[in-house]
Amino acid sequence: MSIATTATPRLSSRVLQMEESSTLAMARLARELSAEGHDVIALSLGEPDFDTPQHIKEAAKRALDAGYTNYTPVNGLQELREAVCRKFERDNGLRYSPDQIVVSNGAKQSIANVCLALLNPGDEAIVLAPDWVSYYAQIQLAGGTAVVLRTGVADDYKVTPERLAAAVSPDTRFIIFSSPCNPTGSVYHRSELEAFAKILRDYPDVIVISDEIYEYIQYGREHVSFASLPGMAERTVTVNGFAKGFAMTGWRLGYIGAPAWLAKACTKIQGQITSGANSFAQRAAADALDGDMGPTREMREAFERRRDLVVAELDSIQGFRCNKPEGAFYVFPDVSALFGKTAGDTRVDSADDLATYLLQEAHVATVSGSGFGNDDCLRISFAASEEQLREALRRIRAAVEKLRRAETR
Ligand code: PMP
Ligand code: GLU
Repeated sequence: MSIATTATPRLSSRVLQMEESSTLAMARLARELSAEGHDVIALSLGEPDFDTPQHIKEAAKRALDAGYTNYTPVNGLQELREAVCRKFERDNGLRYSPDQIVVSNGAKQSIANVCLALLNPGDEAIVLAPDWVSYYAQIQLAGGTAVVLRTGVADDYKVTPERLAAAVSPDTRFIIFSSPCNPTGSVYHRSELEAFAKILRDYPDVIVISDEIYEYIQYGREHVSFASLPGMAERTVTVNGFAKGFAMTGWRLGYIGAPAWLAKACTKIQGQITSGANSFAQRAAADALDGDMGPTREMREAFERRRDLVVAELDSIQGFRCNKPEGAFYVFPDVSALFGKTAGDTRVDSADDLATYLLQEAHVATVSGSGFGNDDCLRISFAASEEQLREALRRIRAAVEKLRRAETR
């Protein structure tokens, strides 16, 4: 007996409306090109090129031997949630209790939980753009409407308080942003955050999702947690994780500190979707938070040297208008001056075209700004060795020069 199949796959409108993550898509294309034998330099995925510090790996091995092999509570091991509370108090001046912490399979899941917990159809979520690719998709998945406040290089990619005030409405359920920002590296300073808080005092029901996953990767700036501003703790979800500051992307661990009612709702959702995160990874993560921060500082210093190198080089490539990131490991140059140019049969009319051209011509993978809320820009990750970065920039320069020559021919 044969099993009947339908000719057209019956996919939900939910998934049909969703775009593939552009960061992951570009990483996949880069891997495919490498597998064909090309020497690809991948500056696409936002992932530290460092290995997880040895003491954290040792802690995971010890945890396995000590029997951390079972399901954990859905919201995370008590000892990890206590370590997170200590971290919040020590680093951010925030007083959370363990029942306000939810540990998830990456900060990506943390944010998805919050979107699913807060949004009903018709609800609006204000996104300060450029923004990380998955915010928009997760808001949409949860049935909400994203109100995207776009900015450009001339604003240092930051939304002004006036624009935020104009965008907040009775339908606004939450505001989401990352600082330091993926994809721009911009950091909202204390005075700017205070101005946001002042506006929000008139809207007590609006929640703020403050994504602070790049907290430890900042260049000369103090980190300000939005929840530490007067009156904001009760309505802020502080998102953080281990991927960036501890070079633990593959471990899949993130967390939130949130009002207890919201933490409980996120736990309920996670309990039906994935349960608690990996048990021995959680035990090691607790040790990471309480342990030696030396490796994190060294990585930060390396990123700062690379930031200086990449910004100086990009500034000297015609057609690239660069910002100076104050955190994270991305630059987000405006490349719109190159639109309309050609090289051979290739015509570059958008950041998508340029990213494709650079991948094919220079074998350098970047990500178009279109997925991040600014399609005049290109995201370049500098989480790669200085040697790789120099070579990538040499190739980008050569490819861009070809574009210019083609135009004047
Ligand atoms: N937020 C931002 C701003 C990010 O860049 C990322 C990418 N890693 C995440 C959240 C998700 O991190 P995780 O790997 O912990 O899921
Ligand atoms: N956050 C990283 C990036 O922006 C990892 C990829 C992802 O999860 O989207 O590249």
